[in-house]
Amino acid sequence: MTVTRFAPSPTGYLHVGNLRTALFNWLIARKAGGEFILRLDDTDPERSKQEYADGIQEDLEWLGLTWDRVETQSSRLDRYVAAADELRAKARFYEAWETPTELDLKRKKLLNMGKPPVYDRAALALSEEEKTALRAERGDGVWRFKLDHARIAWADGILGDISIDAASVSDPVLIRADGQFLYTLASVVDDTEMGITHVVRGSDHVTNTATQIQIMAALGAGHPDFAHHSLLTGPQGEALSKRLGTLALRDLRAAGIEPMALLSLMARLGSSDPIALRSTHQELIDGFDLSKFGAAPTKFDVEDLKPLTARHLASLPLADMASDIAALGVPAELAEPFWSVVRENIDTRADMAAWWALFRDGPAQPIIADEDRAFVEQAFSMLPDAPYDAQTWSQWTADVKAATGRKGKGLFMPLRLAVTGQQRGPEMADVMALLQTRPTV
Ligand code: GLU
Repeated sequence: MTVTRFAPSPTGYLHVGNLRTALFNWLIARKAGGEFILRLDDTDPERSKQEYADGIQEDLEWLGLTWDRVETQSSRLDRYVAAADELRAKARFYEAWETPTELDLKRKKLLNMGKPPVYDRAALALSEEEKTALRAERGDGVWRFKLDHARIAWADGILGDISIDAASVSDPVLIRADGQFLYTLASVVDDTEMGITHVVRGSDHVTNTATQIQIMAALGAGHPDFAHHSLLTGPQGEALSKRLGTLALRDLRAAGIEPMALLSLMARLGSSDPIALRSTHQELIDGFDLSKFGAAPTKFDVEDLKPLTARHLASLPLADMASDIAALGVPAELAEPFWSVVRENIDTRADMAAWWALFRDGPAQPIIADEDRAFVEQAFSMLPDAPYDAQTWSQWTADVKAATGRKGKGLFMPLRLAVTGQQRGPEMADVMALLQTRPTV
């Protein structure tokens, strides 16, 4: 069975970059009829917060990316202890005491010599006496996994055949000096024990993948299929990392972006298939093909979400909007005409409120040019009291035309501006039919 996971650290809210990872893993599981696990990588007690764990779940729920179960790394520490013991027993784990400053110095030296800044394994050469002395002086060290200096190869679901020379990678630290398990080990143990079959994550994890494949092998396990998606950039190709904080999913939600607009964009962005607005999750699943995604950085423009949101809203049947419309106080018998009038004229759901306020109370600010004032006053005096119907506009404008001699744009435009306060919008016949009060000057 296909099992995937989305493994955010609850140290912040989800942003569009995380969403790509979540969505791909979700789509793979759902397409295969498999399982999708939400795994909270919360081994860092200082930075992990319940508020973020809750926020992540809220955001995924908003998007309809349902998970089959939640796992938390903080409740699995005993599993990581067991794995660490096994690595120790297999002589693939060693303690090291260099301080960050010492490591930095080593790195700089290597770089100056034009060499890759790979940890020199000095700790491996320590005698028992030296280790005892260092422990007495510096306390517990960090624990590093001893890589096997061979090439690590895998067939990546997006990048194709990859191979990394393990000798070009530092032996990864899996346990910090304060005993905290690091993501690399915890993730390996979880992926293995939870039977994860496919891991899709950002290409910033490629080196992690190489080391994790070796750790899995050292623990006697095979590895899942890996795929690394490209990272998102801004519309000009600029790095997004600094701006991702401003592209939090909850901010997009607050700005009125619709889940289907966001999901439709992210399910296709960076693939050779065109962006297609989908109306259901099933359509997203059916239209998803990981092999169509490329390795090149993917340009993301938050502005693209606006027209997609507007198009999505325009496509919705009344049933999907009925509760929003009722919440505005629109009488039930007007819900249908109201929706058919506003659907093409809103960017977000929230825009409906202004339309209803206009129909109920008249425009917040009618636009009446000085030279049209007398004309508008005369026209309004010829209008009976509300309610109106589908014929009101044509009858009224015919009467006004006969009385004033105005026609065409000179007749219709000042009336549209005075009635709606806007240059353009729905058909005036439809607007009039919804007006609840007689317009005034
Ligand atoms: N917690 C890790 C991250 O957010 C998970 C990476 C992975 O998918 O393995 O980067």
